[in-house]
Amino acid sequence: TDTPTENATATDAPAAPNDLFDEKLSFHDLGIRGDVLKGIETAGFTKPTTIQAKLIPVVLDGHDVIGQARTGTGKTAAFGLPIFQKADPDVPGQALILTPTRELAAQVAAELDELGQFTNIRTVCIVGGESMRHQQKGLQGGAHIIVGTPGRVMDLHGRGELKFDNIRFAVLDEVDRMLDIGFRDDIRKILGQIKRDHQTMFVSATISEEIERLGRKFMAADAQRITTVSGS
Ligand code: ADP
Ligand code: MG
Repeated sequence: TDTPTENATATDAPAAPNDLFDEKLSFHDLGIRGDVLKGIETAGFTKPTTIQAKLIPVVLDGHDVIGQARTGTGKTAAFGLPIFQKADPDVPGQALILTPTRELAAQVAAELDELGQFTNIRTVCIVGGESMRHQQKGLQGGAHIIVGTPGRVMDLHGRGELKFDNIRFAVLDEVDRMLDIGFRDDIRKILGQIKRDHQTMFVSATISEEIERLGRKFMAADAQRITTVSGS
């Protein structure tokens, strides 16, 4: 596995080493248990990054969150680990994670596959430009976590193959990029169709007024804003 910061882009400076990790805490201290810890060890993570240390306990507590941290600081595990821990293996389609691009969806799904490999929770990746057959199989097979791009998710939902009925966790990953690309209407449609009570998480490197507005529309009043970026 890459170490954090290696994925950082030029426009988004890597975190300084001293603010990347929370030296004092372990994943166990954050409330992560059992088979989820085994996946973390296998992935080679020895301690949580700062955004993981801040976000994981809040998500385990059941709050909606807007989480901000620079690229390459471990945001996938920050929202993914609490989902593994809280998901019910008997219920398909419990988590919906939307990403701005196919590549990111594939990356997130691969990371979740690794972290969750010792749990009974399975992930399926739903993106355009690929045969639907494999994705439909994953859905029919009862995958618990759906990672995808808004277009293909809406498409399969429209065909009745991807149901939102069981969703307990809705994650918008890289919300800033999703809005830049022009997914605002799709995002509103998808979040607006999740009817049952659920936890909503937005994750982003930057937080704009528009992201805050979306949060106010779709999150509980006690939603938490968590940032590791100074000056925000
Ligand atoms: P972000 O979403 O913030 O850009 P990622 O979640 O993609 O960052 O993580 C960046 C890289 O850091 C990935 O290769 C991931 O496996 C790795 N990583 C995440 N958390 C840790 C950790 N606690 N210890 C070591 N590596 C980690
Ligand atoms: Mg990310």
